[in-house]
Amino acid sequence: MSDKKMQVVFASAEAAPFVKTGGLGDVAGSLPRALVAAGADVIVMVPKYGTIASEYTDRMEHVADFYVSLGWRNEYCGLERLVIDGVTYLFIDNERYFKRDYPYGFFDDGERFAFFSKAVTESLQHLPEGFQCDVLHCNDWHTALAPVFLREFYQGLPLYERVKTVFSIHNIAFQGQYADTILNDILGMAHIPNAARQLRCDEHSINYMQGALDYSDAITTVSPSYAWEIQTPEYGEGLDGILRRRSNVLSGILNGIDTDAWNPATDPMIHANYSAADMSGKKACKAALQEELGLEVRDDRPLMVMVTRLTRQKGMDLVTYALDRILSGGVQVAVLGTGDYEEPMRYFANKYPGTCAARITFDNALSHRMYAGADMFLMPSLFEPCGLSQMIAMRYGTLPVVRETGGLRDTVAPYNQFTGEGTGFTFANFNGDEMGDAVFRGARLYWDDHAAWDQLVQNAMAADFSWVRSADEYMNLYHNLHPEIDITKPEPVVQEPEPAEPTAVEAEPAAPAPEPAVTEAEPAPKTEQAAEPADDAKAEAPAKAEEPAPKAEPATEPAKKTAAKKTTASKTAAKKPAARKTAATKSTATKAAEKPAAKATATKPAASKAAATKTTAAKAAATKTTAAKATATKATAAKTTAKKPSTASATKTATKSTATKAAPAKAAAAKTAADKPATAAVTAPKAAAAKTAPAKASTSKTATSSAAKATAKPAAPKATAAKAAAPKAAAQDSSAATPADKPAPKAKSVSAAKRTTRKR
Ligand code: ADP
Repeated sequence: MSDKKMQVVFASAEAAPFVKTGGLGDVAGSLPRALVAAGADVIVMVPKYGTIASEYTDRMEHVADFYVSLGWRNEYCGLERLVIDGVTYLFIDNERYFKRDYPYGFFDDGERFAFFSKAVTESLQHLPEGFQCDVLHCNDWHTALAPVFLREFYQGLPLYERVKTVFSIHNIAFQGQYADTILNDILGMAHIPNAARQLRCDEHSINYMQGALDYSDAITTVSPSYAWEIQTPEYGEGLDGILRRRSNVLSGILNGIDTDAWNPATDPMIHANYSAADMSGKKACKAALQEELGLEVRDDRPLMVMVTRLTRQKGMDLVTYALDRILSGGVQVAVLGTGDYEEPMRYFANKYPGTCAARITFDNALSHRMYAGADMFLMPSLFEPCGLSQMIAMRYGTLPVVRETGGLRDTVAPYNQFTGEGTGFTFANFNGDEMGDAVFRGARLYWDDHAAWDQLVQNAMAADFSWVRSADEYMNLYHNLHPEIDITKPEPVVQEPEPAEPTAVEAEPAAPAPEPAVTEAEPAPKTEQAAEPADDAKAEAPAKAEEPAPKAEPATEPAKKTAAKKTTASKTAAKKPAARKTAATKSTATKAAEKPAAKATATKPAASKAAATKTTAAKAAATKTTAAKATATKATAAKTTAKKPSTASATKTATKSTATKAAPAKAAAAKTAADKPATAAVTAPKAAAAKTAPAKASTSKTATSSAAKATAKPAAPKATAAKAAAPKAAAQDSSAATPADKPAPKAKSVSAAKRTTRKR
């Protein structure tokens, strides 16, 4: 084992707080910090977009510049550094490609992100002193070509020999598919048969993500269930064949949430703070939210909210189908979101004043108030790679009602009425009636069994969704690729025993408390919930006995955590030569040397959660079968590819520069079996081409020839945005019929939905 730290370059097209359009930004914004805390050195590479706030750009330091070959082009690339929270960010600067008002949606996205991937790969030679990249961790299609370039163009250089590549899929719906003309014109790989073969997805197209799946040493996705699902035709979007072939290197690692930003005990945006130990603030939050949204202010109505993109992926078809039944059954519903289903939401808000509210906007502060003030959170997704909202909801003691798919299945343990275990309510099939049933399972429990309800709330709030757990899993993955690097966690240097009693300067050694162990036993979640009599609740409970009131078992004991863990922790700390690590850190003298010693984040997975998880696990088996069957809807393969081979007539100047000096194609992917990926019925990235990319000729720094402007056009992806099947029909059918009366909505294919929902 060497003393070298694991040094990771994390490449992403977005990273909060600099640029974020969705979950990828959240992950790239918080995972690197957690990796640093777990003992890694991390450099995050992000394009330097024109939209990054000046508070950041002003502080950036120029560290290097060089040229990157891209087909016949030679493009300027600057590296601008910023260090925040121990993480070094290197922004890839090329104004021609990135100085625009939005990260994606331009006609030349294929070229822009091919450049980004090549620039990332090239940058590994220009890293700050002492940083020797062990793992290049790429995310989604925007960086998918980096592992391909690395193996085909750079493999021969000693510096690159040790670099292992990890590719993470955050949403397989976006793959980066373009006309194969760019294989030569932009990628400069047409002459490399292995590369051409492994990138090609059909007769006329190549697929960036497919390249990454073939070339990377390890593949991850954002939840274990999604890792399994994308190996099926229903969810695989044409890449399931490759994923099955590479299943030995594929794993699912759950995302976490920022538990500081989402903390009901300290959240400044909510009406009243509260914690698992004292839930009184949540009641106040609910009343305030009801008032704010124009709902009847009464506690006997369970309030269910959604904070979401209003798209098919998020299950809006089921929602519009079942909303009449839910609203007329006595459940209040409030929706915050934007998207394809705004009109149906307005319709219900008008139809059920005082019971239903719709806020068609993006409002972060209101989202906090909704997570805090609600009783239930609805998330009936068609597919869900991971999902953050359900985790946030649980953190706020708001019980999720979710479909058992992807990350939802992995994070929400279904309520077990016999044991009292669980953290929410779940259903398996993409079916409006099943969803309605699940909602009423929750509502009935809310009305009929306060003790059981409160116990579920405690369970949910005790669940651990911090990044610590996931960061450890990533570290293990990196370690598997580099077993010679020790990944033992750095000792929390903070461990020093605080001066016990600074007041007493008397000779007395500050009370060596005979019971040292039991220092601060964590605030064990209160077992007995304030089983609030809520007598009035019953009174008003809607007569509609949709569900037989489940007999509530006396809730099981919540997690009881002892201080033992702590004791052992400090014991080991004492034993370990913490100094060694620190010294090692120094010697690596990377940029990130200024890093504060890894934060001692105390993860405390609740034992109760563990139990609950088991239940899910057991259930998962059963579910899998149903789910698989349920989604019998086929992945409508034949997806339009809309290739517009309008390549620019590339003035063929051979690919040179840096790439040339690298050893020639080593075809690292010799492993790739002959089996060609099942004709990828892939969707091309959003065709917001309409946005007419400014494509202004390079500005100051971009020393590219203006000829480059006549760049090859990537397969102008077709904006098939086939309107999501309007849920109007369902919406109009306002009869609050019993489940049996209603025809189940047709479950449409996953891919069909994706086509309508892509955001980047
Ligand atoms: P997605 O597929 O959209 O990334 P996630 O559940 O992973 O879904 O994350 C969605 C995030 O965006 C959550 O933090 C959620 O609170 C937030 N969000 C979604 N819609 C809105 C909105 N209209 N206003 C405020 N926040 C929103």
